[in-house]
Amino acid sequence: MAIATVNPTTGKIEMIIDPHSSAEVDARIGEAAAAARLLRTTTFAKRAEWMRVAADILDAQAPGLGELITVEMGKPIAQSIAEVEKSAKAMRFYADHSEGFLADIPLAEPATVNASRAWTRYEPLGVILAVMPWNYPLWQVIRFAAPALMAGNAGVLKHASNVPQAALFLDTLFERGGFPVGSFRTLLIGGADVAAVVADPRVQAVTLTGSEPAGRSVAALAGDHVKKAVLELGGSDPFIVLPTADVTAAATTAVRARIGNSGQSCIAGKRFIVHADVYDAFAAEFTRQMSQLIVGDPLLPQTQVGPLATESGRDDIVALVEDARDKGATILTGGTIPDGPGWFYAPTVIADLPDDARLVQEEAFGPVASLYRAVDVDEALRIANQTRFGLSSAVWTNDPDEEAYVIARLDAGAVFVNGMTVSYQELPFGGIKASGFGRELAADGQREFCNLKTVWKA
Ligand code: NAP
Repeated sequence: MAIATVNPTTGKIEMIIDPHSSAEVDARIGEAAAAARLLRTTTFAKRAEWMRVAADILDAQAPGLGELITVEMGKPIAQSIAEVEKSAKAMRFYADHSEGFLADIPLAEPATVNASRAWTRYEPLGVILAVMPWNYPLWQVIRFAAPALMAGNAGVLKHASNVPQAALFLDTLFERGGFPVGSFRTLLIGGADVAAVVADPRVQAVTLTGSEPAGRSVAALAGDHVKKAVLELGGSDPFIVLPTADVTAAATTAVRARIGNSGQSCIAGKRFIVHADVYDAFAAEFTRQMSQLIVGDPLLPQTQVGPLATESGRDDIVALVEDARDKGATILTGGTIPDGPGWFYAPTVIADLPDDARLVQEEAFGPVASLYRAVDVDEALRIANQTRFGLSSAVWTNDPDEEAYVIARLDAGAVFVNGMTVSYQELPFGGIKASGFGRELAADGQREFCNLKTVWKA
């Protein structure tokens, strides 16, 4: 794939960027390695000072950066600006909390190990490679980079090929804040060139956010070279609605959960599993709201759903819906491509899916919701857990026993009760099964790219 900005609203090529040569990639990894040696001896206070300046740069440029994101990948403008602000907030959060998250942990009773003192300390690993997707082109990168740099690591970024302008902005952001030159470097390379970077002895670990096939490939490479990997992959999150729930509130939140980022979010509610007692009421309200969403130019403030980011992404969505239609599913709203340019797709609700429909097992990375009727809680759980994925989940109930029962039985990295999944900087984020392994965010995420060094003293 060429490294280029192609505006998904118009389908027009805005900018094509030459990839880095292997000599440039080599030099950039060298800069990152030199910066990592410097960073590991800097104080938390110094890194925090630089991180806050970089956060101020983001905030100061939020409107322009928001527009850049919308032009590159089609997100409605208010969501693009919110993404910039969320990224700046996370940078300040790690500036404030990293020293505490990574403080030494003394063993309470060192005599049990024949020591006068014993403790563990978190040390940076060095240069970490981040392979990142286009769907939150700033946030996905910052949620890795802010904790990693605050821990004293350096980063090299292989961003998605369709967001090169965001990638180039990030290339200089941290050194503009004051970090040593090379602390964070963008590599303009294709997926095929990632293998050489993972193999490079100056690179200590890799994190990938993206699809399951990309994750498989990078995890295999990391395994070959015995390097730590964190994988944040796809999801097909269940959103369960049980009879004691506030059904109207659940339906309203379900629309937001499905449609944020025009449906292109890993943690979007994608499969809505509703108890038979409230199924008809939920389906009617959910379908009504989905059919009234404003689809259009994402630069207009009133737009709620923009185009899909790529033509191939829309082709994938069309194929999933047509497969379901052919196999006898009921399209309650949508299922159409709007007239005109750009890679738009109508917000869609599909019910009565046969077991062999691809949507039952596969991720719908676009504004397409699947509805399932469950006769009881156990059937809702069976449907929820039947995919290969296990990223996040939501359950709506006002029965405390039922809440505890469901939380304990959902195969997922997170459960949100009476709400929708959101990635908060304060909470660990990540999945199980084919959604990946390892965690980002919070103390647990920051510690993924640290050497937990044990110290024993006689
Ligand atoms: P993608 O095609 O897997 O791309 C993600 C990144 O991986 C891009 O930088 C891509 O580069 C690179 N890549 C692709 N194949 C590769 C390979 N074989 N070796 C090395 N690098 C490779 O995913 P996407 O379409 O951009 O994003 C959508 C997917 O990401 C969805 O499945 C979504 O659920 C998932 N996602 C997960 C999370 C999470 O936190 N769990 C968050 C957001 C998105 P090129 O662009 O050059 O191909």
